[in-house]
This record gives sequence, C-alpha cells and structure tokens, in this order.
Amino acid sequence: MEGIASNLLEIRRRVHDAARAAGRDPSAVRLIAVSKTKPAGMIREAFDAGQTLFGESYLQEFLEKCDDAELEGCPLEWHFIGHLQSNKVRSVIGRVSLIHGIDKVSTAEELSKQAVKRGINADYLLEINTSGEATKYGMQPLEAKAAAETLFGLPGITLRGLMTIASPDPSQAETEFRDLRLLLDAIKTQAPHPEELTELSMGMSGDFEAAIRQGATLVRVGTAIFGWR
Ligand SMILES: *Cc1c(COP(=O)(O)O)cnc(C)c1O
Repeated sequence: MEGIASNLLEIRRRVHDAARAAGRDPSAVRLIAVSKTKPAGMIREAFDAGQTLFGESYLQEFLEKCDDAELEGCPLEWHFIGHLQSNKVRSVIGRVSLIHGIDKVSTAEELSKQAVKRGINADYLLEINTSGEATKYGMQPLEAKAAAETLFGLPGITLRGLMTIASPDPSQAETEFRDLRLLLDAIKTQAPHPEELTELSMGMSGDFEAAIRQGATLVRVGTAIFGWR
C-alpha cells in the first residue's frame, strides 16, 4: 500500500497515539481530510481507504467537487473550513455539516437568516485569532466573549465550538491551542446550552499532536495526507 491510503493509516495511528498519550479517548478526536486544491480523484482514493469526513476552504472549488461524478454515490461528510463571507453563506448552507470559519456577528446573522428561510438548523464554529497576527482571520478572544450572548440568541444556527489556525512556531502554537480551550470553557459559562459547545477545531499537518494534547476534537490535516499543494 502506498500514497494516500498509507498516509491516512499513518495519520490515524498518530492521532490515536496522541490521544492515548494525553489520556483522552481516541474516538473523541475526528480527522478531517483537507482536500483543497486536490482533485476529486484523490478524494475518492481517500474515501476508498475509509475516510468519509473532508474539509474544503474555497467555495467555488468545493461546489464543483461535491458535484463531481467521481464522488457520486459516496456518502461523504463535508466541513467548510475556509473563511466565510456573508455573501457566500447561501451557497454553503445545507451542503456541509459544519462551518468552521465564521468570524463576524454579521456573518452569523446572515447564516441564521438563511437557515430560518430554509427551515433547517446550521452548526458552526467561531474562528478565533489566537496568535494576534494581523494578517489572520478570526475574532479576538475578548470580542468573542462579548459577542457570545448575541450569537446564542440567533435562531436556526447552533454554535458548536471554536476554531483556530495557530502560529508556525510549535511552542507558541501549543500555547494558542490551550488558550482556545480556555476560551471555550469561558464561553460555555455564558451559554444557555453549554452541552452543545463540544468542538475545538485546531491542529493541522505540522501541529495536530500538540492540538490533541490541548483538547482538539477536530484536526484538519491536508498536506500529510494528500501531499504538498
Ligand atoms: C489548508 C488548511 C488546513 C490543512 O493544512 P495542512 O498544513 O496542509 O495540513 C487546515 N486548516 C485550514 C483552515 C486550511 O485552510
């Protein structure tokens, strides 16, 4: 076995080991195979190797791939992990089981409006800028705490947790993962239904083990499965 199937085996083993080493239940960490820029044929290969959960970041590319003939009949679960602007919400809603990249109250309001209009519920995560880098998307932690009450009041949508992209430096990244977990704990104390806030989406190819140590429930791995982009 080689290529995507063996990469997946290896990543699943490392996810499992990292969870065990942290005293966590390995089944509490889900692996999202990030397939952005990769063709549907590679997604098919991963699916045939047992992977069902995929993440995409670019709207147009995602829409094309999820309708690709190569994936017809494959019961895939999609997460949208890219930054989502308000005007793109209507194209994503209903096609993915979780939206990771919401970082403005106004975008959550649009998501709520579209969900109500369609009579569905949409689950989402707030993207947090834990590194303080100005070039990164994401709400500042204090901003998120201040927005929480408004977000909890929006109909048709459910805040399920937080997402972050950490700094490249490994020790700094681990601090940021811990900060995200502490922020989720703080936001839970404000929540009418804290039991819904179960998700921490953090960790990528280079840092998912540190993220698992700090409580990640969703790790987003692209390069280590599909190769360099
Ligand atoms: C591309 C991407 C990933 C995957 O990154 P790798 O380093 O290739 O594992 C994870 N999360 C987000 C939001 C991404 O855009």
